[in-house]
Amino acid sequence: MNKYDIIVLGGGPGGYVAAIKGAQLGASVLLIEAHKLGGVCLNYGCIPTKTLLRTANLYKDMMNAGEFGIDIAESSSISINWDNLMKRKNKVVKQLTGGVRQLVKHNGIEYVEGFGEVLDKTTVVVNGEKYIGKNLILATGSTTRIPDIPGLQDSYHGGYTVDSTGAIALSERPESITILGGGVIAVEFATLYNSLGTKVTMLQRSEKVLKFLDGDVQKTMQDHLVSEGVNIITGVDIEAINDNKVIYKVSGERHETESDHILMSLGRQPNLKGIDNIGLEIEKKWCCGR
Ligand SMILES: Cc1cc2nc3c(=O)[nH]c(=O)nc-3n(C[C@H](O)[C@H](O)[C@H](O)COP(=O)(O)OP(=O)(O)OC[C@H]3O[C@@H](n4cnc5c(N)ncnc54)[C@H](O)[C@@H]3O)c2cc1C
Repeated sequence: MNKYDIIVLGGGPGGYVAAIKGAQLGASVLLIEAHKLGGVCLNYGCIPTKTLLRTANLYKDMMNAGEFGIDIAESSSISINWDNLMKRKNKVVKQLTGGVRQLVKHNGIEYVEGFGEVLDKTTVVVNGEKYIGKNLILATGSTTRIPDIPGLQDSYHGGYTVDSTGAIALSERPESITILGGGVIAVEFATLYNSLGTKVTMLQRSEKVLKFLDGDVQKTMQDHLVSEGVNIITGVDIEAINDNKVIYKVSGERHETESDHILMSLGRQPNLKGIDNIGLEIEKKWCCGR
């Protein structure tokens, strides 16, 4: 029987940091990860987006080099090499997730790759094997919420609509993108793609982006995006998606917008699969897109 002081389910920043800390304090620790060590943040979130943004900012500065007192003979010769941009992003992700792997190893943490099914407060099954932990830390994170909008699933499976994971791995720079939502991820991708020269349209229900932040911050951010050339349409009620077209209403009037890709950024929902048998109390507001 495999017994540990602590079993950690999920190898994202929540899980791997808890596992490392536990091991450093002398506990025997098992870390279980179903997909990729480093979780969303290192593989699909914080790290890849910031890596891409670094290039986007550099590109923007180079295009405006004159303002900085640098003459570039032919600014038209400056262009994004998409393949190399993706290669760099993948390299940075690999480097950082490799670093986490080393930390896990050096701290004597047992690491198992596989989907963990929690049977009760102390027992987890992975790849058919049972593991017992005196303590169990659930750090299973979240995934993109796909709301019930007519046509959205088809557009997603057809490759027209992407989520943030798809948006960091497009095979080429889109000429245009429509972003559904006005939260942090929406704003981040609007900034990124706009700086890379993509025509960006944001469709959002509320009057301002980042509606959970202070009004001053919302206004500053929205004004900035607009001044940079992002087309922000507010008061939007999305009716349907048809491949790469979004059909929506503003004040009862019907509109349609078409772009190379649609980025759905309409919230995230908790990963509860594997931990749904143990009677956890879930606050509805945070569960499953309700
Ligand atoms: C595009 C984007 C950009 C972001 N940028 C930033 C940023 O700049 N700064 C910032 O602070 N945050 C950022 N975030 C948020 C950040 O990624 C999350 O807050 C963070 O990843 C949460 O960590 P976590 O460990 O709770 O969950 P996750 O990172 O989601 O990790 C959970 C892990 O658990 C695994 N798992 C789930 N169920 C099981 C199971 N049953 N068995 C085994 N493994 C399982 C999953 O495979 C996953 O690897 C960003 C997110 C996105 C999407």
